[in-house]
Amino acid sequence: MNTPVPPEAEPQGSPAGPGTAPEITYAECRQCGTLIAGLDGRYSCGVCGWVNHHSEGHRPLPRAEDDEHRGHGCGADANRLG
Ligand SMILES: [Zn+2]
Repeated sequence: MNTPVPPEAEPQGSPAGPGTAPEITYAECRQCGTLIAGLDGRYSCGVCGWVNHHSEGHRPLPRAEDDEHRGHGCGADANRLG
């Protein structure tokens, strides 16, 4: 009847799993040396346009097969031009 509402538990820095938000990281641009911010080790310099390869990221990019919003299995192969 008189159920007390429990206080909301604050997240104590324990990641919920692979679906957590990307982590902001910092590094120097390898082309112009500007300190730039990136996500999970992937950087894009706003000064000179340098970007590092996505494979340098701290975790793998989500694959098309993992994207449930796509529904079908039409991946990169479907976008190829003959
Ligand atoms: Zn740069």
